[in-house]
Amino acid sequence: MPAALITIAEARRLVLDAAEPLGVEMVAIADARDRVLADDVAAAGDVPPFPCSAMDGYAVAPGDANRRLAVVAESRAGAPSARPLGEHQAIRISTGGAIPTGATAVIPQENVEVEGDSIVTRTVVRTGDHIRDRGEDMRAGSTVLRAGRALGAAELGAAVAAGVGALTVARRPKVQVLSTGDELRAPGEPLGPGEIHNSNGPMLVALAAHQGAVTAPPGRLPDDRAATEQGLSRALQNADVVIVSGGVSVGPHDHVKPALSDLGVEQVFWRVALQPGKPTWFGRRGATLVFGLPGNPVSAVVTFSLFVRPALAVLQGRAEERPLDVEAVLARPVRRNPDREQALRVRLVRRNGRLMATPNGPQGSHIVTSLLGADALALVPAGEGELPAGATVMLEILPR
Ligand code: AMP
Ligand code: MG
Repeated sequence: MPAALITIAEARRLVLDAAEPLGVEMVAIADARDRVLADDVAAAGDVPPFPCSAMDGYAVAPGDANRRLAVVAESRAGAPSARPLGEHQAIRISTGGAIPTGATAVIPQENVEVEGDSIVTRTVVRTGDHIRDRGEDMRAGSTVLRAGRALGAAELGAAVAAGVGALTVARRPKVQVLSTGDELRAPGEPLGPGEIHNSNGPMLVALAAHQGAVTAPPGRLPDDRAATEQGLSRALQNADVVIVSGGVSVGPHDHVKPALSDLGVEQVFWRVALQPGKPTWFGRRGATLVFGLPGNPVSAVVTFSLFVRPALAVLQGRAEERPLDVEAVLARPVRRNPDREQALRVRLVRRNGRLMATPNGPQGSHIVTSLLGADALALVPAGEGELPAGATVMLEILPR
């Protein structure tokens, strides 16, 4: 009799406990997109580095309307005026142009009339009008980005503005996906009797790559003990994370667990009170993590999302490792499983300010099409009878 099933939360905690951030490396800004920052980034100088104009117009002194001022120079972006501003003078200025010495305001060009080499101001001008102060965006030495942050467009822009040309980022985990099963054929290959296409391989590679992993093409292992052990052994030598699908159940052709045991991979857990995904296996050899996911494609995606995704995040030092804390309301009643928590594929819509979760078609673990258009997994607690429409459920947002 196998040990009692553990809950999703327990399994997830065991995974997170086993995952340690990998090392770091320096990359140029151009290569840093979607990487995870490993060190805080501080501003090298003030940003903006000098007071500059927020408008196209004229750098002036403050004063009343209807002043006539002589235009004596120009300050363009990248080409400051060498000449300071004198009394009864204006200096033509463009957005981003440095404020000339002596000027303390900018009057937009819409608010003046040009008369030859002079302007006549049509509005009152106050000190500081339309001036971007030095350091308004960032102060020299201040922390702009914290370690653990994923580098999207905004983070890259802020790092560059802060004066940084290269970033220390977490090393990307190397992931090897292996699919077990004599029945599996490569994409597009004709099927013989009893055969199916290996949809898990490409799906799991796509999911891992989306989480920042460096992925090799998916491998296939036959349902043979020696070949399984050989394939796993090779994967363990190179990868930080090995993801095997299929062959972790209790059938006579399920060779993954004994093979891993013989290779010195220590089991952390096997079997989770989860539908679909009960046979999920997790173990480690040193720092190398091994996930044995169920063979059914939906189960493989569900268990990847619940257990492998968080591990890949932690390996990359992701700060905001999301707890399961997004709530939604069930749009229709769902029959509960007495022993296992269910991970329903749902579509999400916002109605009257509430997130409504609607099951995305038939929920069988072999129905690959139930993954199409699914936004999230809604977790339905184990129990008797139905969970009624309107009940609150926790969500795990599905990666694409
Ligand atoms: P297993 O976990 O090996 O018992 O497989 C459970 C079910 O998932 C069986 O119907 C398998 O044929 C199917 N299956 C296993 N691996 C894959 C795969 N890579 N792609 C699609 N279906 C699979
Ligand atoms: Mg199998």
